Amino acid sequence: MEQQPCIFCKIAQGDIPAKKVYEDEEVVAFHDIHPIAPVHLLLIPKKHIPSLAKIHEADAPLLGKMMALTGKLAYDAGATHGFRLIVNTGTVGGQEVAHLHYHIIGGPEPLGRMLGK
Ligand code: 5GP
Ligand code: ZN
Repeated sequence: MEQQPCIFCKIAQGDIPAKKVYEDEEVVAFHDIHPIAPVHLLLIPKKHIPSLAKIHEADAPLLGKMMALTGKLAYDAGATHGFRLIVNTGTVGGQEVAHLHYHIIGGPEPLGRMLGK
């Protein structure tokens, strides 16, 4: 069984601090603690979903809403000319935190072909 609350659940609940840039009743976006580019945000659902491999059909609207938020979050954080959206999934995908998160990665300069790890 998944141990709860996980670190991102704690951030979502405000139990541990994060540099939040957006929050509503369903999602939170905050700066990654170890940014790999000038803009590196994490966007998470407040609800604990372990990974993209573990979603249910009922979660589709929430994931779509998250996708729809990424452009504005990226732009407002300074990624004015584009960004990369990465969702590391499972052990093969290099996922370290078992709470679904979208990496929003960008900056003033092109990222090249770097994949984020
Ligand atoms: P993953 O490898 O699971 O896709 O990415 C997890 C990300 O979460 C990493 O980029 C890591 O730097 C970030 N992270 C892990 N713990 C914390 C934390 O406590 N606060 C914040 N802001 N980011 C974290
Ligand atoms: Zn969680």
